[in-house]
Amino acid sequence: MGKILRVDLSTGKITYESLPEKIAKEWIGGRGLGVYLAFKEIDPKVDPFSAMNKAYVVTGPLTGVNGIPAPGRWVSVTKSPLTYTIHDSNSGGDFGHGLKTAGFDAIAIEGASETPVYLFVHDGKAEIRDARHLWGKDVHTTTDLIIEELRKELGDDAEKVKVAAIGPAGENLVRFAAIMNDKNRAAGRGGHGAVWGSKKLKAIAVYGHETPKIADMGKFREVIVEMMDKLKKNPTTAGGLLKYGTAVLVNIINSAGIFPTRNFQTGVFPDAEKISGEVLADTLMDWEKQKTEICWGCPMGCARYTVVKDSPWTGEGGGPEYETIWAFGAQQGNANLKAIAKANFLCNELGLDTISMGNTIGCLMELVEKGKIPPEKLRGLKAKWGTPEAAVELVWRTAYRSGIGDELAEGSYRLAKKYGAPELSMSVRMQELPAYDPRGAQGHGLAYATSNRGGCHVRAYLIAPEILGIPQKVDRFATKGKAELVKEFQDVTAITDSLVICLFTQLAPIWVEDYPGMLEGVTGFKYTPDELRKIGEKIWNLERAFNVLSYGDGREYDTLPPRLLNEPMPEGPTKGHVVRLNEMLDEYYKVRGWKDGRPTRAKLEELGLRWVADLLEQENLLPE
Ligand code: SF4
Repeated sequence: MGKILRVDLSTGKITYESLPEKIAKEWIGGRGLGVYLAFKEIDPKVDPFSAMNKAYVVTGPLTGVNGIPAPGRWVSVTKSPLTYTIHDSNSGGDFGHGLKTAGFDAIAIEGASETPVYLFVHDGKAEIRDARHLWGKDVHTTTDLIIEELRKELGDDAEKVKVAAIGPAGENLVRFAAIMNDKNRAAGRGGHGAVWGSKKLKAIAVYGHETPKIADMGKFREVIVEMMDKLKKNPTTAGGLLKYGTAVLVNIINSAGIFPTRNFQTGVFPDAEKISGEVLADTLMDWEKQKTEICWGCPMGCARYTVVKDSPWTGEGGGPEYETIWAFGAQQGNANLKAIAKANFLCNELGLDTISMGNTIGCLMELVEKGKIPPEKLRGLKAKWGTPEAAVELVWRTAYRSGIGDELAEGSYRLAKKYGAPELSMSVRMQELPAYDPRGAQGHGLAYATSNRGGCHVRAYLIAPEILGIPQKVDRFATKGKAELVKEFQDVTAITDSLVICLFTQLAPIWVEDYPGMLEGVTGFKYTPDELRKIGEKIWNLERAFNVLSYGDGREYDTLPPRLLNEPMPEGPTKGHVVRLNEMLDEYYKVRGWKDGRPTRAKLEELGLRWVADLLEQENLLPE
């Protein structure tokens, strides 16, 4: 669309900027553009909750382009209050497409309002509106109320308004509060919802009539036929995701012995079958409503919509996805799928990241097991393994920072540290790990340890080659060659997130060799796959440089919880293994051209980032 909307919530000033073609070509969009803007505009030392932090809502050149595989996604970028890293969080639904129709590629939000507000962006313009009446409301109510309000102005067209909102968790500055869009879709990780909360920004509503232009229709048509063909030929993208959703992974990952159970004490959950995608599909799915949950323009349709009729778990809504099933299931020793669905509904309504929430409750359960939490702290709650009643109650307490919930709201690392056992936090850079125990997937362990945004499976999904055999199987227990593989996945995924298309296209596999055609068709910009790899590498280096400037990131942060490095997996197909991180880390730094976890001047200059090297040098943070 060539336009960026800038909103200063402190002064109420709204400006419309053009997106320079050079920047669009160099940083592509989505994560790349967001990270570039954030690096240029946010002081890395800033308190994430101060008005000096900024928040970006960014689409990519392929977002909202009909025909592109899975183009409905958008990206939020900010400095995270959970990790203190630069952080991007990616979400699906219809909101990304809605922002394009409203006429913008991105929104930059700065300052902080004194009273709650929401932003209405429509047909190339924006207004800041009063949201005092929405403050305190959950995500679903907020979304409905905004659409109803706009009905007075737009009539039935108000149905086309797409809303991203925060819930009570974001308002209460829970460090892993999500931004929820289209009610059930989450820019979940890293506490972006809390950054909006600190700015008193309750929601953004988007609406409009613009359509992304296609630079070369002939090229575009040719390429999308090819991409759709790839998606159709692969059983996962052609039907597997639609039938079972991401939860199809439960049995696969459990049978590999890497389904983290009871806070990663083991990798085998005996009751995995009961919480599997297959059981979910057979018991709780509403297939009619599922169709409305699928992200805009997506032919794969992994979304879930579930209905639970039994008390006390009554409810309905989007999800649960694989990660949520794990976080409120095996991670807590819980095999009650209905209770998991309930916890998921609540997280969506209150605006919480399900991975960090479920993981942190698992951490609390282990702290309780080990006698680290004084019982009075729990106010009568029996937070033991396999107690979903306790878990659901803890979700409420966290969102409202009530009692022990106030400590859970800080995330597992700060919680475990407070009670003298930081090693029990299953996190990297203070962000909770997701649903794969890396002791049985060495490359995935390296990917976790080196992730610029903290514990994360979607910076480099090494589960694809190591477990699923995509694009081809590699030895999951080997460490040799994993550094190169992790770098390739990290750099290419940075581009996938910048286009922006859904990561699941990688399973087809649609890979970097397929991107130049799509980009040329839509934007007219020409790239080679290797040029795109270099841009991915540049994004990765810029992120790391921000973190170095923020808190001195480097080797000591490129690590894993001690359990994963020192405690051999006790049972199952991964029995006896730990992550052999030291065998991979030096090699990783070598292939990255880094020293001790920090980019060197030579590498930064090679990537055209001399200005970044100069900044690091000024702060004495550039390696010798
Ligand atoms: S595969 Fe799932 S997450 Fe990805 S775009 Fe489609 S519905 Fe959304």
